[in-house]
Amino acid sequence: MITVIAGGVGAARMLRALLQVVDASDVTTIVNVGDDLVLHGLHISPDLDTVTYTLAGAINPETGWGLVNESWQARTMLEQYGGVSWFGLGDRDLGTHLYRTQRLREGADLATVTAEIAQAWNLGLTVLPATCDQLQTMVTLAADDPADADSPGLPAGTEISFQEYFVQRQHSVPISAVRFDGAEATTAAPGVLEAIETANLIVIAPSNPLVSIAPVLAVPGIREALIRRRSAVVAVSPIIAGAALKGPADRMLSELGHDASVLGVAALYKEFTNTLVIDSADAALQSDVEAFGLNCIVTETIMSQPGVSESLARTVLSGVSR
Ligand code: GDP
Ligand code: CA
Repeated sequence: MITVIAGGVGAARMLRALLQVVDASDVTTIVNVGDDLVLHGLHISPDLDTVTYTLAGAINPETGWGLVNESWQARTMLEQYGGVSWFGLGDRDLGTHLYRTQRLREGADLATVTAEIAQAWNLGLTVLPATCDQLQTMVTLAADDPADADSPGLPAGTEISFQEYFVQRQHSVPISAVRFDGAEATTAAPGVLEAIETANLIVIAPSNPLVSIAPVLAVPGIREALIRRRSAVVAVSPIIAGAALKGPADRMLSELGHDASVLGVAALYKEFTNTLVIDSADAALQSDVEAFGLNCIVTETIMSQPGVSESLARTVLSGVSR
C-alpha cells in the first residue's frame, strides 16, 4: 500500500503518475484542507477537488484547476449583482460544492463526502481529507496592500486567509508568517493515521511545503506518525533550480527565511523523510542534500514532459529500498 501526502496541482500530477504504474486500490492520499473556504454559503475544498478532477481526467487543462468544458453563467450573474466573484466557480464545479455543502449540512463528515465524490468519479483510490475539522491557513502581510476594486487597503501585519492571498491577490504581496488556524483542536480524519502506519511507501508529493504539506503536518498526530515511519518516506521536491514550476512556493520559502532551493526543502523535511528526489537541474546539490542526512535521488521530475511522469513514479517506488 502507498500513501501520498498531497496538496493540489503538484500532488495531483504525482498521483496521476503513480497510478500509471500501481493499482489505484493500493493507493491512499491524504489531502490538505487548509485552503478550504466557505463562499456563498458553500463549502469549497480546492485541493481535494484538484486531486479528484485530475485523476478523473476532468481537470481544466488550461487553468490546472476546475473542470474541463466549464461555463461561467453563475459567475456572470454574480458580477451583475456586484457579488463576490474573485474566486472562480464554474457552473459544473458549483455542482460539486452544492453537493458537498448539502451533505455536510445533513451531518456527514468531510471524509464521508470526499469518499462519495471520489466514488462518483470512479477513482478507485482512497481520498482522505487530512482532517474533517476546521483548519484554516492564514498568512500575514509583510507590506501594506493597496486598495483595489475587490478589497480595501490593508496595512502590513494584517492576517488574511490563504485564498485572499493566493487567488484574490494572486500571491503578489510579500508575507511574513503562515499560521494554521484551529489546527491544535483538530483530529486526523478516520483512516489517516492508519494509512501512514501501514503503508509500505509514503510519498510526500511535490506540493508547496509551507501551505500544502505543512497544514497536513499540523494536524495533531500526523507529523509524529511520519517521523515513526521515516524510513518509508520518499519526498519529491516541488522546487527545481531554485524556482517553483508555478505559484509562489519559491518566494514564500525565501520570505519566511528558508532556502528557496532543494536544500530548503531538505531542511523542512529531513525529520520525517528518508529520501528526497530532486530534479536533474539540481544534480550539483545532491551531496548538500545528503549532508542533511537524507538519501538523494536525482532524476527528471517535470511531469508535463512525455515519459517523465511514469519514470518518476517508478523512481519514487524504488526510493524506499535504495
Ligand atoms: P496547489 O495547492 O494547487 O497550489 O498545488 P501544490 O501545492 O500541490 O503544488 C504546487 C507546487 O507543485 C509548485 O511548487 C510546483 O513547483 C510543484 N509542481 C507542480 N508540478 C510539478 C511537477 O511536474 N514536478 C515537480 N517536481 N513539481 C511540480
Ligand atoms: Ca492548494
